[in-house]
Amino acid sequence: MSKKLTSRADDYSKWYNELVVKADMAENSAVRGCMVIKPYGFAIWEKIQAELDRMFKETGHQNAYFPLFVPKSLFEAEEKNAEGFAKECAIVTHYRLQNDPDNKGKLRVDPEAKLEEELVVRPTSEAIIWNTYKGWIQSYRDLPILVNQWANVVRWEMRTRLFLRTAEFLWQEGHTAHATETEAIKEAELMNNVYATFVENFMAIPVIKGIKTESERFAGAVETYCIEALMQDGKALQAGTSHFLGQNFAKAFDVKFANKDGKQDYVWATSWGVSTRLMGALIMTHSDDNGLVLPPSLAPNQVVIVPIYKSEEQLEAISKLVNIIMDELRSKGISVKYDDRNTLRPGAKFAQHELQGVPLRISIGPKDLENGTVELARRDTLTKEVISVDNLTSKVVALMEEIQNSLYSKALQFRDNHITEVDDFDTFKQVLESKGGFISAHWDGTEETELKIKELTKATIRCIPIDSKEEKGTCVYSGNPSKQRVLFAKAY
Ligand code: AMP
Repeated sequence: MSKKLTSRADDYSKWYNELVVKADMAENSAVRGCMVIKPYGFAIWEKIQAELDRMFKETGHQNAYFPLFVPKSLFEAEEKNAEGFAKECAIVTHYRLQNDPDNKGKLRVDPEAKLEEELVVRPTSEAIIWNTYKGWIQSYRDLPILVNQWANVVRWEMRTRLFLRTAEFLWQEGHTAHATETEAIKEAELMNNVYATFVENFMAIPVIKGIKTESERFAGAVETYCIEALMQDGKALQAGTSHFLGQNFAKAFDVKFANKDGKQDYVWATSWGVSTRLMGALIMTHSDDNGLVLPPSLAPNQVVIVPIYKSEEQLEAISKLVNIIMDELRSKGISVKYDDRNTLRPGAKFAQHELQGVPLRISIGPKDLENGTVELARRDTLTKEVISVDNLTSKVVALMEEIQNSLYSKALQFRDNHITEVDDFDTFKQVLESKGGFISAHWDGTEETELKIKELTKATIRCIPIDSKEEKGTCVYSGNPSKQRVLFAKAY
């Protein structure tokens, strides 16, 4: 087995990069800023997808698919959106290569094959989708449209990190159209709540639901709702966003409908997305210096069984018992893998499963067969116990829930211990440097102050928490009056 991971305390960022690669989740590719998601990482992403997809459908949404390319004239139609994404988009200008006459064996762009209209590789799909919705919507009877697409998008990010920020990433983007403002706002809030429920219950990551300030808002949105999580190094991570887009895209693409009174009105819109960044959140919330720690809900294999044997006869006897155990566990909906590879020693298998975060490991040796026992090892607590094989299934079923809950509680406790109320700027800077986490402080509501604080400390306003109460105070930076506290943090 390769040598140990760098510890989190020594170099958090190195620990993260090493873990992603060594746990076989993803690796860098030949394309700058783009990653290869390997089968083990993709299996986790598929679990995320499957549950979210179920939740989207349960809330009335359907999947569809729109083109990867957006003609430039459509891309620029909604001005704010275009301006926001212009700085980071890839553009297709030609459609053919030809042999390079000056450079044998090389190809060059065929100057004759220039596109009449350049195509933007979608950084987000509002433009192409609202141009399409124009043809779908005539009257109130055509509304609402509740559509989601699973896709890849490209944003030409300058500083990239595996999963957290890549130039191409996988995501889902919901795009809905409504007859009223109230209904669209309700939808944007609903989907932010769906994200929060999913991330908390399924990924065991506590989140704060909030609203973005104007400067952090999605380009083209009237309001951006978000869920913010806290990583173990005290930095925040935006785990999902849901936007109320007002009538901005309907106006840009002239999407009108006849309302119940026969009057023409512009359609109201939302969009919402989560991406492969969630994989980064998962890793950075739960994992430790031995590797990945997975909540059972997301583990491709919830249980792995390792036989410990010297002879073929022993292996055969163990395998017989394992088959019975696997049938029982599977009948309870638990995914289990029998690691009977004869190319690795048990110790090496233990290390691999630990690194890959398998929640429970069962090992069975000849002594266990004699005694009717197995050894159970929990990945999250690294504790081991020997139990009777008769109690195994019920014990494993109970442990799945216990591990899931305990990971959430641990992360919640960490998060809550890292929200500090601060009332002056010196303390603000000191807490940010020494402890990190969220700083709950008064803000005067101006972009100027927000930018100044960012410039001086690198902390941004992560959100105005939805459940925050009105509280009279003075801005931590300017001293001007403030109505409520907001959450600041350094963020990924
Ligand atoms: P947005 O469309 O900007 O609201 O982003 C939608 C979701 O994608 C949010 O959860 C973002 O955190 C996430 N996201 C944005 N940029 C990237 C990126 N470069 N790599 C991975 N995820 C991203």
